[in-house]
Amino acid sequence: MKKEDCIFCKIVQGELPSRTIYEDGDFRVILDLKPVTRGHALILAREHADNLYELPEETAGKAMILARRLAGIFREKLHCDGLNLMQNNGEVAGQTVTHFHLHMIPRYEGDGQEINLVPGEATQEELEAVRKQITE
Ligand code: AMP
Ligand code: ZN
Repeated sequence: MKKEDCIFCKIVQGELPSRTIYEDGDFRVILDLKPVTRGHALILAREHADNLYELPEETAGKAMILARRLAGIFREKLHCDGLNLMQNNGEVAGQTVTHFHLHMIPRYEGDGQEINLVPGEATQEELEAVRKQITE
């Protein structure tokens, strides 16, 4: 279902312009307006879902299959050296557009970008406490 005032719903429906590189019944894939690298693309779900929590499981599976296919095309056509998939959920995680999207970020030697998440420390006890919290 389309959500009023959702910019990605409007893009998916063709009501707002985009540089579309792929379309099918479930997704529209567009170039990001502010690419972090050359070829930065967004896989947009056609049906509105705020985030991964709301996305139907079947669509989530299809999104990853599509990412796998596009990854090969990016490597062949853009000659990228690697690829980051990124998917943000919630403001705290950096989500700025509340409509499910999966970032495909081709990476190139010397592209100057970096992933800024800083590895932390955890004791074996802490790791075990987390494992229990998730699995019990
Ligand atoms: P996120 O921070 O994960 O919500 O990502 C939102 C992304 O959408 C950002 O990388 C923006 O540059 C991109 N974006 C926002 N508006 C548009 C638009 N109209 N067309 C293409 N990309 C957009
Ligand atoms: Zn939407």
